[in-house]
Amino acid sequence: MTPPTDKNPLTLLNRVFGYSAFRGRQKEVIEHVLNGGSCLVLMPTGGGKSLCYQIPSMIRYGLGLVVSPLIALMHDQVDALSQNGVAAAFYNSTLDGAQKSQIRKLAQTGELNLLYVAPETLNSPGFQSFIQDLPLSLIAVDEAHCVSQWGHDFRPDYLEVANLRKHFPETPLIALTATADPQTQKDVRERLGLSKDKVFASSFDRPNIHYQIGNKEKSKEQLLDFIRSEHLNQSGIVYVLSRTNVDETAVWLTQKGLKAMPYHAGLNADVRRENQNRFLREEGWIMVATIAFGMGIDKPNVRFVAHLNLPKSLESYYQETGRAGRDGEPASAWMAYSSSDVVKLRRMIEGSEGTDEFKKISRQKLDDMRNLCEAAQCRRQVLLAYFGEEHPGTCGNCDNCLQPTNTWDATIPAQKALSTIARTGERFGAGHLIDVLMGKETEKVTQFSHTKLSVFGVGKDLDKKQWASLFRQLVAAKVVTVDVEGYGAYKLNPQSWAVLKEGQKVFLREEAKAVGKAKQTRYTKTESGSESNAGPVDVYLFEALRALRLKLAKAQGLPPYVVFHDSALREMAARRPATLNEFAHIPGVGEAKLKRYGPAFVELLKKEN
Ligand code: ADP
Ligand code: ZN
Repeated sequence: MTPPTDKNPLTLLNRVFGYSAFRGRQKEVIEHVLNGGSCLVLMPTGGGKSLCYQIPSMIRYGLGLVVSPLIALMHDQVDALSQNGVAAAFYNSTLDGAQKSQIRKLAQTGELNLLYVAPETLNSPGFQSFIQDLPLSLIAVDEAHCVSQWGHDFRPDYLEVANLRKHFPETPLIALTATADPQTQKDVRERLGLSKDKVFASSFDRPNIHYQIGNKEKSKEQLLDFIRSEHLNQSGIVYVLSRTNVDETAVWLTQKGLKAMPYHAGLNADVRRENQNRFLREEGWIMVATIAFGMGIDKPNVRFVAHLNLPKSLESYYQETGRAGRDGEPASAWMAYSSSDVVKLRRMIEGSEGTDEFKKISRQKLDDMRNLCEAAQCRRQVLLAYFGEEHPGTCGNCDNCLQPTNTWDATIPAQKALSTIARTGERFGAGHLIDVLMGKETEKVTQFSHTKLSVFGVGKDLDKKQWASLFRQLVAAKVVTVDVEGYGAYKLNPQSWAVLKEGQKVFLREEAKAVGKAKQTRYTKTESGSESNAGPVDVYLFEALRALRLKLAKAQGLPPYVVFHDSALREMAARRPATLNEFAHIPGVGEAKLKRYGPAFVELLKKEN
């Protein structure tokens, strides 16, 4: 494999990767790095971060070193590069001594453009002495938020990257991430010595993802209904909190006739690997998983990510849901939410070993997460605001925009709720408070003589569900504080007194409906390829192309998307290229793929014409 000799970024994009134009800020980043500059690149998932360092590595003298957190991800990237004829390799614990020395030799003789390494490999003495004398074209740090303790996925090994930089002060460093709030961004820059370097920020927005969050009732049935009505036979990930729940949910979905399998840290390594491979390499599987699954899952056509439990922060939520729709086509982020999840997570924070500072931040992050769930406004606007971005709202592709919730003046019931908290001594949770408000003579109510209170039975105008929603929203709006150490007792705070004494108004949204199917979105759904940029697609032909892709991928032990993305197949089905020359114009067909796959695809297309 000879590295391309061309030195022009656009020509390389064209000839090697088969794309006609740079996207977003790719061109600026590439030029900056080519001029020897370091930078932080903030780009959403699927935005095209990889090319930002791959192309400069192919142009600049020396080896491009890429720090990447997960072995599976590295393998995929190296496979994809090799398919495009780029000399790339990975260096990690899966290699034996002979393989490692082979790669060292290739690197030393300048035959490699890119070398992917895991952060934990960086500080091994063997690796250090190996790269010490190598000319490096650049150092790329993928998933750079892992270097920050404020980030949601801190990995101590990432601190080695900072050390590495000291040894190569002249080498451009390019850090990339798709999830970092402003505090994490600042921390990443400080730790990697990038404080004075340029930041290339693009919007983190993922316009193709439809966000939907609703109340959890019978969560499994709700999930089934959602999958059946929106994503039948499509790939998706379902996140749940516990391993037992993973196993149960996977079995249950299978019994209902869906292709589902489990993934969690309690399964043995072989089963995990097998399930992951099946998810990546075959079509239409649903992975039911704990958050142990997904980091580095690069599968472009995951059509939905469903949460049956609340993630612990918006960063986790954004990263997990971000695994949907990397290919830019319509995808769903669906969540069934219940406030008991919040209580559970709060207990976990309080019971953790972390420092007070850590707990404080974790609590804040959980509050922000809950606020997204309780929000009546555009979900995208709330999400992006968290990442420091302004969005005008009314995105047209989230549940709140498509089915706006009505708000109502809840000042009087809120005052009743707050007085009940005060008069019962700020010692009780919502359940008991609602009993008092509704005038229920339960054992507990009688035991504490709460029947004698002036607030006893003053809330008969609302039902239990409405009161529960009201309390939840008061907590989310910070009009009430939940004392987690005091077993979830509701307490008053200065905000509560403003409502009680100063007549501050409270507006709440009407009870959200249980989360179910999505309403029609502005984003048109492509049913296994009914539309492409080039016009309508023959579904039958698309399936034939898919089958050919699967055959070619299997023969090489590769996931199908490394051969071609669905979008490339769709273009083929719409344009029906009849010659290799025409085939070369399909986006994603570079010189290497033209040579390797052109004849087989053109032959099929001719036959089907
Ligand atoms: P990220 O790492 O930011 O999630 P990737 O680098 O994996 O994203 O790119 C996402 C997808 O977009 C890949 O399939 C890639 O080939 C494609 N892509 C990247 N840049 C371009 C471009 N300029 N034109 C067309 N497709 C592109
Ligand atoms: Zn919206």
